[in-house]
Amino acid sequence: MTRAAAPTRAPTTYQLLIELPQPVRCRIGRLGEFDFPAGLYCYTGSARRAFEARIARHLRRGDDKILRWHIDYLLAAPGARVVRVQRSRRGECAWNQATRGRMVVAGFGASDCGAGCGAHLKWVDAEGRKGWRGAYGGPGSHCLALRLAASE
Ligand SMILES: [Zn+2]
Repeated sequence: MTRAAAPTRAPTTYQLLIELPQPVRCRIGRLGEFDFPAGLYCYTGSARRAFEARIARHLRRGDDKILRWHIDYLLAAPGARVVRVQRSRRGECAWNQATRGRMVVAGFGASDCGAGCGAHLKWVDAEGRKGWRGAYGGPGSHCLALRLAASE
C-alpha cells in the first residue's frame, strides 16, 4: 500500500483569536443559547486534512455560510471577527489547556475532546493575551485592553 507522506512540519492545530466588540447572546447549535461577554476569545481546533481550507473557512463570513461547528455560530454573531491565527503541530488539547483563559460555555468545540478540557473556547484576559506572538494591534485594541484591565 502506498500512501503519500504528509509534510513532517505541516501544522495540524490552530488557534483563532476572536474579538467580540460587544456582548452578544448567541445560540450555539444544539448546545443552547449563551451570553458572551465582550472581549477576546481563543478557540483551539485541529484539522488533519485541508488545514488551510479550514482556517480560510473560519475567516469567511457570509449569509450563505452553513453553520456546522460551534465556532461557526459565534463567528456569525454581530461584530465577531478573527483578529489573529496561530498554527502549530502541538496537540489540540495540550495547547488548549496551556492557554490562559476562562471557560464561558461548557462543551464548546469539545464534542470530540477526550482530555477533559471542558471547552476549546476560552475568554482571554489581559495576562492571557501575552501568549500571543506579536502584540495584538487591531482597531480598538487599546480600548479593549483598558476594558479587559478594568474588568479584572
Ligand atoms: Zn480537549
